[in-house]
Amino acid sequence: MIPFLDLRNAFLDLRSELEAALTAVLEGGSYILGPEVASFEREFADFVGSARGVGVASGTDAITLSLEALGIGDGDEVITTPFTAIPTAVAIARSGARPVFADIVPDGFSMDPREAARAVTERTRAILPVHLFGECIDMGPFMTLARERGLEVVEDACQAHGAVRAGGMAGSFGRTGCFSFYPTKNLGAYGDGGMIVTDDEVLSGRVSRLRDYGRSGRDTFDELGENSRLDELQAALLRVKLRHLEGWNARRRELASMYSGELAGLPLELPIEEEEGSHVFHLYVIRTDARDALAARLEQRGIQTVVHYPIPVHFQGAFASLGHSRGDFPRAEEACRSVLSLPLHPWLTEDDLRTVASEIKDFYS
Ligand SMILES: *Cc1c(COP(=O)(O)O)cnc(C)c1O
Repeated sequence: MIPFLDLRNAFLDLRSELEAALTAVLEGGSYILGPEVASFEREFADFVGSARGVGVASGTDAITLSLEALGIGDGDEVITTPFTAIPTAVAIARSGARPVFADIVPDGFSMDPREAARAVTERTRAILPVHLFGECIDMGPFMTLARERGLEVVEDACQAHGAVRAGGMAGSFGRTGCFSFYPTKNLGAYGDGGMIVTDDEVLSGRVSRLRDYGRSGRDTFDELGENSRLDELQAALLRVKLRHLEGWNARRRELASMYSGELAGLPLELPIEEEEGSHVFHLYVIRTDARDALAARLEQRGIQTVVHYPIPVHFQGAFASLGHSRGDFPRAEEACRSVLSLPLHPWLTEDDLRTVASEIKDFYS
């Protein structure tokens, strides 16, 4: 049996450090917006290369609060990709803005900047590219488009902690970068958590107020916010794990290149790391016309795979009111039919990786 993922691995490796961090918080008596959150905000923002970090309750909230802090909401449009985890679009809708989709590139999984440009209307306020599967996408064309059309850029970096391209880390290019610490992410908490990073101190101040009911002083509330705080326990655990993130990402890259070596020559599309370090392989996603048959065969042989994502966002019932139909974003729809994520995480053994690869080779022979 080769599981897709086993979230206990990091704990088993780091048990004594994690237990010490937990105990320190429990003994310290400060459980909300205390020293651990403040330190983790600093450390994570430093890591990304941004001036400020604001811890929030989830990646979804990081996106919603970014848009709200930028004054984006009712009547506004935000352009994003229909081939993403659904929270990207949920977060936009929760701000009051309308998610407007732009199809993905013909030869990959990211939003096509030309399609994004075509989707701009007089109501568009922001572009929200997603660094999907751990690949830091080329932000250049989106930054140019935003500059030309006077739009904000908010990055969904929820799957790409530590991916670097053209000298910048995913999350450091836009007005804000949004991160999730959902347990399965490359940097995962033991529960929910998220962070907004930004170079704009006015904006980070606004997000800090919005996440805390709208608090402007100890007892004053000048605008309506919500309760969306990263808690002390999660921050303390994430500080321990952050020190290991680059090592884990490096191992993910090694394993990904091993997979790609093993699977070369088969009738599959394999992921590519366009620049050294630009992909942190949150997921190792292959494409094949025989996806369902291959997944069924692997399952029979005790190998777990997952489809990220079988349904494009514009087909989900929650977004039916947007009025989309089949064929609106054909590349995203085709990706949903052909993608398959293979087991890949820092604790995957090379033996298990070769077993997965040889079962795939068997399937095609
Ligand atoms: C995980 C994820 C989110 C949402 O993060 P949560 O912490 O679960 O709210 C948003 N976008 C993408 C691309 C994600 O993978």
